[in-house]
Amino acid sequence: GDAGLPKLETVVGEIAARMQSREERGNVATYIPELAKVPIGQFGMAVVTADGETILAGDAETPFSIQSISKVFTLTLALGKVGDALWAKVGREPSGNPFNSIIQLEYEKGKPRNPFINAGAIAVTDVLLAGHQPREVLGEILRFCRFVSEDETVAIDEHVARSEKQTGFLNTALANYMRAFNVLENPVDHALGVYFHHCSITMTCRQLAMAGRYLAFSGRLPSRGVTVISSERARRISALMLTCGHYDGSGDFAFRVGLPGKSGVGGGIMAVAPGKASIAVWSPGLDRHGNSVLGSLALEHLAKAMHWSVFG
Ligand code: GLU
Repeated sequence: GDAGLPKLETVVGEIAARMQSREERGNVATYIPELAKVPIGQFGMAVVTADGETILAGDAETPFSIQSISKVFTLTLALGKVGDALWAKVGREPSGNPFNSIIQLEYEKGKPRNPFINAGAIAVTDVLLAGHQPREVLGEILRFCRFVSEDETVAIDEHVARSEKQTGFLNTALANYMRAFNVLENPVDHALGVYFHHCSITMTCRQLAMAGRYLAFSGRLPSRGVTVISSERARRISALMLTCGHYDGSGDFAFRVGLPGKSGVGGGIMAVAPGKASIAVWSPGLDRHGNSVLGSLALEHLAKAMHWSVFG
């Protein structure tokens, strides 16, 4: 039972205090000016448990750019749209390469290794575009984020989206490469436009922890008694988060934290302790793989203190 466990609220408060006093924070993302100017001294954390208890610490209500965390939501929508046919276009193996790597596309005839590296996420977005205009798809993604977070204020930062487009030469190369092999089927600029915009969604830790509940609680939102996806699908998406959610740092994250999680270069991480809690952490300083330094460390402490590792 839970008798021997410390109180969650106390643990979260202590972790936040420890993180806020740490000097070693890595570096903020610099590939676009909007992310480079985010002050590094911020740390937020939110935990939502199965019974709906919500624990917030630090800058848990400050919106930040969710970036690649949005790839979990687009994957969920694409599986809802085409089911297992998606796996003809996107693999399920960790890449061991940086998030924007093009190298493996050549070996696999334009088929990306997994849905969470940039190439894979662009291919997933292309699947959502079949039969739809970019504006409709973007609306669908935004509505999904608002629905699972139970918050209508989730929005897109247009400045970030514009910068992504202006500097997105590598992503454009990835998309064209996949288009050449017919992995992408819609106009390349449509797929990229939607991709740049869903990366530019801003959310708070509270909203992201709410949003991750459907993965933590077998596809359901306990507060509403609503089924978002099947429990099998929630398990599979979680498995991909565990193996591929942190780019070429995924093995290390599984080793240290032992929870499915997805990071973004905005410094956020959404993680799930299956059956126990949905968790979001944010701190903009990144390690060399593009994962939040304090975010990973906070999750490592939390999983350890609460005995939440999926490995028991
Ligand atoms: N918008 C970023 C890019 O495509 C996403 C990267 C990330 O969060 O990993 O480069």
